[in-house]
Amino acid sequence: MQVIYDRLRRECGLAVGILDADLVDHGTRHPNLALLKISSFCKMHGHSVSLLLDYSDIASYDAVFLSCVFSFTKLDEDVLDMPNVYCGGTGIFPDGGEDLPNDVEHACPDYSLYDPYVARELARGRRRSALSDYMDYSIGFTTRGCFRKCSFCVNKKYSHVFVHAPVQEFLDTRRPYIYLWDDNFLGFKGWRKVLEELNATGKPFQFRQGLDVRLMTDEKACVLSRSRYHGDFIFAFDHLEDRPLIERKLRIWRAWTDRGTRLYVLSGYDSQDERDIESVFQRIAVLMKYDCLPYIMRYESYKSSRWRALYVNIARWCNQPQFFKKKSFREFCEANQAYHKTEGTFCSAYKAMTDFEKEFPDIAERYFDLRFEEESMLKRFGRPFYTRPSSELLDEQRDCWMRFVSDEMDDVDALSAYFSKKLDIMCARYLDEVNPSGGVPIVLSTDFVGKDHCFRAC
Ligand code: SF4
Repeated sequence: MQVIYDRLRRECGLAVGILDADLVDHGTRHPNLALLKISSFCKMHGHSVSLLLDYSDIASYDAVFLSCVFSFTKLDEDVLDMPNVYCGGTGIFPDGGEDLPNDVEHACPDYSLYDPYVARELARGRRRSALSDYMDYSIGFTTRGCFRKCSFCVNKKYSHVFVHAPVQEFLDTRRPYIYLWDDNFLGFKGWRKVLEELNATGKPFQFRQGLDVRLMTDEKACVLSRSRYHGDFIFAFDHLEDRPLIERKLRIWRAWTDRGTRLYVLSGYDSQDERDIESVFQRIAVLMKYDCLPYIMRYESYKSSRWRALYVNIARWCNQPQFFKKKSFREFCEANQAYHKTEGTFCSAYKAMTDFEKEFPDIAERYFDLRFEEESMLKRFGRPFYTRPSSELLDEQRDCWMRFVSDEMDDVDALSAYFSKKLDIMCARYLDEVNPSGGVPIVLSTDFVGKDHCFRAC
């Protein structure tokens, strides 16, 4: 690879083709970031760059950069051996292949690369929103690496999280949003500074790979929930054994925000039998409790399961929030059956559900009738979550806290004020900030959050 980059640095006026194999095979929603950077680098050195939308004309280019991210993408294998073709990506090399040279890696992405594709799709009548990732976002990594080395993840090259690029490096000020591909952003010790940098752009941003909720702290939850975040926050709940930790961290998160939160739920990986199905439902039940939506990720091996259709329908139920928020799994399957056209037969959802229920009635009884609206603590108790309370609310809180700290309240009054949210520990931390001259010196116990009813005011 070094040879071609040296040539591109040395010469100019070469014809460079760029081929996104995932796009050519099945059409992806995201532009390929490495290819955007390669395009930028080539243009910077005076070469002409074309996005190739098929394999027909490859021989006519001085160099063709081909990238394939997904292992299921079908490639024209003959092309890979052509002398002018340079390949990369996890779809071809399990570790992603050679790193890009430093001056390519840190080139500002050429966001115009996919313009011919976008123009073609729009002309074909495709909705603009389906192409938004190509048109509306600046894209980059602020950090790289992850120390977890999960067995199912391709991300094993590095053992720690380290700084990769400042936001300004990939920011296009004409684009309204930013999205980030960081592998494990919350594992980076400089996370706060990067969030400040992102917020300073004034542009809503999102982490597309999900964030590691196991690393959540009060401080991270506070800063992140007040950031200009775009869309749902995404975390992961891959293994049931993590349940105590995940619950503890979700309690911290939910103490700070009621914003839309999703967690990836890995399925079909540890096993593909009733134990895995039960584990998926157990994780869904936990997420319902914390008003979070599951997003079911099916590992390839689910296809070999005798419960394959059940996996598919659990994913259909969960991954479409309009269904998940309104219906239990049973109601979802029954609704599918109601639309089934062939009389005397069952639709796949209803059949998968009833087949499983016949063999494992206990599991079905525990989970098939759970409804998001009934399980969600936020929906049931309406706990207010604060990012920055209004001054009226703080006045009311200050008054209540004053009476509490000066012993004007007996225990019953204090508990009643606490449960009616008038003595709110989340507000207490703002009292001095808003009223510095006469604020009540109320100190939040650092071990309060996540522990019901355990607070202390000094
Ligand atoms: S935490 Fe995420 S990025 Fe890190 S190894 Fe696991 S799945 Fe991959």
